[in-house]
Amino acid sequence: MTAGAAPAAGLCARVHATEPRSRANGPGARFVIWLQGCTLGCPGCFNPSTHQLEGGQERSVEALLVELASTAGIEGLTLSGGEPLQQPEVAAELLAGARALGLSTLVFSGYRQEEIEQLPHGRRVLAATDVLIDGRYQASERLASGLRGSQNQRIVLLSARYSLDDVEATPVAEIRISPRGELVLTGVNPLKLKR
Ligand code: SF4
Repeated sequence: MTAGAAPAAGLCARVHATEPRSRANGPGARFVIWLQGCTLGCPGCFNPSTHQLEGGQERSVEALLVELASTAGIEGLTLSGGEPLQQPEVAAELLAGARALGLSTLVFSGYRQEEIEQLPHGRRVLAATDVLIDGRYQASERLASGLRGSQNQRIVLLSARYSLDDVEATPVAEIRISPRGELVLTGVNPLKLKR
């Protein structure tokens, strides 16, 4: 890790899960961190186990960045949840740390960009993000393609790193087998793999 990637001392994240190499959470192979906790309550949310604020595991941001730095062959970090902006300082530090490592950054958030700008650390998050998928999930507008769960959500390109085509070419689902032999379903439409 470079000197610029040093996170706020002692800062801890509440983490639901991590996946070191996903191809269904943004362009290319990506390290994914699902942050725990969401109070936005979108009806029909496909990941309710991420909602409980005290669930998941506590991990230091520094340890997460060390793990990110030691993962070979990835091109970026994706933050998902839960709602990553409900741990805004953690999100800002993780994204800045990824940028310092030369990685691209993508964030899924139920908040719209305009709301994020008003949150504590929100502008830092946006400044360190290449692609933002924003807005509450609306089951009546279910889409589940091109990284958007529903039609109302937007793909916001905050840098020139990726084109819309790059983002929309992301597979909607993937299945991986963990080192412990567990099946891991992920992507914007993991249900597709269950049929
Ligand atoms: S913001 Fe995301 S995690 Fe939170 S309720 Fe909505 S869809 Fe679920």
